[in-house]
Amino acid sequence: MRLYSLLAAAKINLYLEIVGSRPDGFHELIMVMQSVSLCDRITVRSIGVDEIRVRCEHPLVPADETNLAYRAAALIKERFPAAMAQLGGVEITIEKQIPVGAGLAGGSANAAAVLVGLDLLWNLGLTQSELQELGAELGSDVPFCVSGGTAIATGRGEQLDAISGIDTLHVVIAKYEAEFVSTPWAYQTYRAEYGDTYLAGVKDWQARQAEVRSGGMVRAVAHRDAQDLAQHLCNDFEKVVLPAHPKTAALKATMAELGGLGTLMSGSGPSVFTLAESEAQAEELATKLRSALPDPDLGIWTARFASSGVQLDG
Ligand code: ATP
Repeated sequence: MRLYSLLAAAKINLYLEIVGSRPDGFHELIMVMQSVSLCDRITVRSIGVDEIRVRCEHPLVPADETNLAYRAAALIKERFPAAMAQLGGVEITIEKQIPVGAGLAGGSANAAAVLVGLDLLWNLGLTQSELQELGAELGSDVPFCVSGGTAIATGRGEQLDAISGIDTLHVVIAKYEAEFVSTPWAYQTYRAEYGDTYLAGVKDWQARQAEVRSGGMVRAVAHRDAQDLAQHLCNDFEKVVLPAHPKTAALKATMAELGGLGTLMSGSGPSVFTLAESEAQAEELATKLRSALPDPDLGIWTARFASSGVQLDG
């Protein structure tokens, strides 16, 4: 086949703890990541010329070599030069549904889909862990976006342990279009304000990981206890992002009062989500949110928890 269409799922962080500062300059994290059914559609198509082309109509998404989807294709091309020489170049079409710069890993999901799509298009026969290793070279969230579902992520976020998630849950996600949080800024500010609480070395990080693995959030997921899960939602980035972004802080406060299971900012923000027990509850919460905050700049989406990251469309 000369064309594959894939769905690339967004993620939310049910738990995000910043544990320490790594020698490679990144932060050491402990997260519980969850795929949701809010997806971009990525199409990879063989073209006769030896080129990588990206088409995307979203005004905030670059269609050049800085696009993470382009970089994913360039990485595969570099590692498997014979495939492209033999089968021709690729045109990548990105149909965006995932809000951009939202803390939902949209770009990482697109890159993950291109890795999976080119593996199919160019008959590379890569395993999921080989795709994830390539993904880790592109960004910390890309390996999770390849496999998706529910996972405990450690290291930079690229070390994954899949766990069995509560796939019946639903979510309302909201984000002000004009709100923007720079992820590097969020890390730098966190380091400046909370660096003195960082655990110092690998042994302490491993001990903390063990505590989190046997702690409230992971237990709640394992026991499929949605109420308990909601009690353990946690995101360290809220401590620096919400004070600096009062509109997003007010959005979180409003969402938390609507009657869902629990509310949290995702990643470094500024999207905020509320968990719901059913699709009907999610729709009801979204309607209530729209009437509480009728600002046309506020984007609101509903989705369900998803058990995969990238999947073939159709
Ligand atoms: P994360 O949760 O991994 O921090 P994010 O959801 O905050 O990511 P993205 O939507 O991935 O952020 O976009 C971040 C920036 O990356 C945007 O400013 C955008 O211009 C750029 N970008 C590059 N490639 C893509 C892509 N394929 N989709 C979206 N944004 C992209």
